[in-house]
Amino acid sequence: MIAVAIDGPAGAGKSTVARRAAQALGYIYVDTGAMYRAIGYAMTEKGVDLSDPDAIAENLQGLTIRLGFEEENGQLCQHVYCGNEDVSGKIRTPEISLAASKVSAVPAVRSFLLQLQKDMAKTQNVLMDGRDIGTVVLPDAQVKVFLTASSEVRARRRCRELEEKGTPQSYEEVLRDVELRDYQDSHRAIAPMKPAPDAVILDTSELDLEGSVQALLRIIREKVS
Ligand code: C5P
Repeated sequence: MIAVAIDGPAGAGKSTVARRAAQALGYIYVDTGAMYRAIGYAMTEKGVDLSDPDAIAENLQGLTIRLGFEEENGQLCQHVYCGNEDVSGKIRTPEISLAASKVSAVPAVRSFLLQLQKDMAKTQNVLMDGRDIGTVVLPDAQVKVFLTASSEVRARRRCRELEEKGTPQSYEEVLRDVELRDYQDSHRAIAPMKPAPDAVILDTSELDLEGSVQALLRIIREKVS
């Protein structure tokens, strides 16, 4: 099996770039952020205090998070389920982004998802994206890439996405959220976001989407061949 680990900060274009690269290679694209988002969503719905790790850990009991892959327009698309509910659409809000970042710092949440993520790479070629894939989830991945861009470029890209979704936010607000999430994700005690020592750093600040996909594919093909 071939595993490609893609890590990096919020808004670096990981999901779009990684999805396109996975499609070109015929690998399954796994977005682990969606799993943390689903837990953030479930905790928010239950009214759990997100600054209380014990309450979060307690409320994990009885929760099932599952990824399903369905064919849409000739591509396998990931759906995330909380119990039987498909929450794929509901987890893409700024509120759930911050909730995901908070719950992801809780050790019980990380161990709850770790085995699920490892298992997915056992039976299929995967391109998995997250924050700790190359360092913790798939330390033996054949290819590790840390995909990044400046916080200003990432905030501008996020603003465009929010605008296209019809939920615009000011650049200043988005930049603040991006920087807050970077801080939370890279300063937590457990599985902080950082490049694996053997990761290739790919900075997409100066690249457009197509350029980023081609650069990623070049790195992967070089390592895999
Ligand atoms: O990638 P995405 O922005 O959807 O991730 C949402 C949040 O989930 C991140 O800000 C991060 O806190 C957390 N996360 C994580 N480890 C991963 C993937 C995501 O901690 N492997």
